[in-house]
Amino acid sequence: MTLEMPLNHSCQIKCPSCEYKYLYNFKIQDIEKINSKEKEEGNEIKYKFTTYLICKNPLCNYDIEVIGNIFEYPINILKAVNITNLK
Ligand SMILES: [Zn+2]
Repeated sequence: MTLEMPLNHSCQIKCPSCEYKYLYNFKIQDIEKINSKEKEEGNEIKYKFTTYLICKNPLCNYDIEVIGNIFEYPINILKAVNITNLK
């Protein structure tokens, strides 16, 4: 693992319970390498992560599980953070 942890990320997330959308800033701490693909400037490495957020709607306070992928390419550079599942 070459990316510096934790990673700070912010994005809009829609609560699966109340369906309100808020902007969240969160830290990605534990990532797990899934695969790597050979490209022109080296390997693109894909990681998966899970993190938890509390819904910002005060009437909801749902515990949101956020699952996503991180792409590192080229080495040491965070190329993208994709949220793949919310529950
Ligand atoms: Zn909610």
